[in-house]
Amino acid sequence: NQQVLLAARPQGMPTPDNFRIVQAPVPEPGDGQLLLEILFLSLDPYMRGRMDAGKSYAKPVEVGAVMEAGTVARVLLSRHPGFVPGDIVLSYSGWQRYALADGASVRKLDPALAPPSTALGVLGMPGFTAWAGLLQIGQPKPGETVVVAAASGAVGSVVGQIARIKGARAVGIAGGPEKCAFVRDVLGFDAVIDHRAPDFAQQLAQACPGGIDVYFENVGGKVWEAVIPLLNDFARIPVCGLIAQYNGLPQAEPGPDKLARFMGEVLKKSLSMRGFIQREFAAMQPAFYQEAAGWITDGRLRYREDIVAGLDHAPAAFIDLLRGRNFGKLLVKLAD
Ligand code: NDP
Repeated sequence: NQQVLLAARPQGMPTPDNFRIVQAPVPEPGDGQLLLEILFLSLDPYMRGRMDAGKSYAKPVEVGAVMEAGTVARVLLSRHPGFVPGDIVLSYSGWQRYALADGASVRKLDPALAPPSTALGVLGMPGFTAWAGLLQIGQPKPGETVVVAAASGAVGSVVGQIARIKGARAVGIAGGPEKCAFVRDVLGFDAVIDHRAPDFAQQLAQACPGGIDVYFENVGGKVWEAVIPLLNDFARIPVCGLIAQYNGLPQAEPGPDKLARFMGEVLKKSLSMRGFIQREFAAMQPAFYQEAAGWITDGRLRYREDIVAGLDHAPAAFIDLLRGRNFGKLLVKLAD
């Protein structure tokens, strides 16, 4: 069984040395267990946090342990009455080719309803994050302006499309001309700005002539700084992710205290800012699956997957994700 272990905790941006690829025996299922063959492994930004020691909303991966991940798998052997070999399931099996699971920790997927890989993306955790964060916290109204960065990615792509379904204007921020063209022409956002442009902040202001009513925060850093002066009274800010600072905090620049100035904006503009981890909304997942599946069927919710082949390539693909080199929901394909 090929596995990718956490070899050492990264200092800043992870490097290939932080991972170790090993071979282990394929495990034997006990009573009530399943042996799974992983088909798709999901690579997500949160995994950077799990590589660090210290307190967070989830326990870190131990050094020497298999890296964690959501997976889509095929049941090879079943010693559980609810599953037969050949069933396709969503599991949380980590960066490896084979894994054991009990029946309670997996969810059966129907490949006739949607391609199984979508259970890790648009119809999975990232899609649900977008849906719950935007609708529960952002609460966009018709005619309002919703801004989201990492707009071609797993979460951001869904945020902007749902904003449009709800009658709001969607403004995306993405890195590079190819991603921007996709966000505008395929996903149908009303406007898109390249955050690498030297005049990014001015372009964002021009794209939001009526200001910003909902800023769905995925990145932090320079994007967030450009957003602050454009926020309207009573703007809502679901804080979903801060990928620009997962490899370390930027050094403060000399000058007036930005935090103090931002608190002034919160007060004067009656801003609402609320962080969230998607699992707090877990009870709403059935409603999400139903609504999102309908939008995919009627063509209003589109998605793009970025599929890398082979477990050996998972560490490099993950490092690329933190650099913005993925284009769409990043998956590693391990078997057909
Ligand atoms: P994506 O598929 O969007 O991939 C990450 C993207 O982030 C990159 O492609 C890149 O896009 C962008 N990015 C990376 N570094 C920077 C940077 N320094 N500045 C600006 N953009 C950058 O990932 P996901 O959709 O899976 O995740 C998006 C965000 O949502 C992350 O912050 C993640 O942690 C968060 N998240 C939060 C959850 C929660 O429960 N709160 C659950 C799931 C995700 P580009 O080239 O366009 O800049």
